[in-house]
Amino acid sequence: MIAAGLLVALLGSACAAEPSRSDHGPDGSRPHPGQQAKERTGASGALAARAERAKRSQAARVAAARKWGLTSTPLAAPAPPAVKPQLTTRKGFEVEDGETLPPVFTTVPVTERVVFLTIDDGTEKDPELLRMMDELQIPYSAFLSDYVINDNYGYFRQMRDQGVSLHNHTLNHRYMPGLSYEAQRREICGQQDNLQKLYGKRPALFRPPYGNYNQDTLRAAQGCGVKAVPLWAAEAFPDHMEWREWDRDLHPGDIILTHFRGRKDWQGTMPDMIRQVMKTVTEKGYAVARLEDYV
Ligand SMILES: [Zn+2]
Repeated sequence: MIAAGLLVALLGSACAAEPSRSDHGPDGSRPHPGQQAKERTGASGALAARAERAKRSQAARVAAARKWGLTSTPLAAPAPPAVKPQLTTRKGFEVEDGETLPPVFTTVPVTERVVFLTIDDGTEKDPELLRMMDELQIPYSAFLSDYVINDNYGYFRQMRDQGVSLHNHTLNHRYMPGLSYEAQRREICGQQDNLQKLYGKRPALFRPPYGNYNQDTLRAAQGCGVKAVPLWAAEAFPDHMEWREWDRDLHPGDIILTHFRGRKDWQGTMPDMIRQVMKTVTEKGYAVARLEDYV
C-alpha cells in the first residue's frame, strides 16, 4: 500500500502539469473525464491503472472483511517469487532411497511472513465458502478425494473457475501404508486421471490421507505426475488451532490444513472456520499466499 500510495502521488503531480493539445476537443472545449482517461496512454497510464486497481482491491478487501465478520482485514500477500524455492523432504520424514522421489514437507522454505491454506477431502460443499473466499481474495488449495466429491463435481468446478488449484487426495481415502504398491497406484493415479478428466488439469501436488505414506506411495505418486507432497504444520478448526511444532506457533511458509466440513462434523460452518483461522493468521502478522506460486 505504501508503494501504491506513492505512485498515486507521483502521478497526481504529473497530471497537474500543463495540459497537452489533446486535452482539448476540436472546438477547444474540455473533454469529459472518460475521454481524457482513454487518451492517457503509455507507461504512466499503465502505472496509474495498476495503482488504481491496487487501491480498489484493498478497499474491496476491507469491505469484504467487514461483511464476513472477520476481526481484521487479511494482510495482502507479497508478489510471488520469481524463482520457486528449492524443496527438500523434512528431516525425519524421509523414506529409504527417497532422494529422487517427490519431497515431503510441512513448511515451504521462505523468509516472508506468508502461510498457505489447504482444504482437504471435499465432504461439505458450502456455497458460502466460495462467495466468502472470492470476496476476501484469500487463496487456498483443495486436496480432493473422489468418494466424497462424486455427488457434486460441479461445486469444485466453480472453485476451479475462481482460481483455486485442485489437487490429489486419492480416490477412496485409504491408509496408504496398508496397501500394496499396485493398490496405492490405483488410488493415486486413478485420482490423477479422474481430476484431469473432470477439471482439465493434472494435479502437481498429492497429499496422502492422514499424512501417512511409505516409499511405495511416493514412487506411485511420482510415476503418475506428482511433483511434491505437502503435509501441514498446523490444522484449523472453527474453534481452535492444532499445532505440529512444540512452540504452538506459525512460522514463515507454514502450511495450514483444514477440511471441507459442516455443522454435523464440527462446531461450526466453513465461514466460522475461516474467521477463526484468519484471526490467528492476521493477528500473528502473516498473509495467506498461493501455494502454487511457491511449490
Ligand atoms: Zn483427508
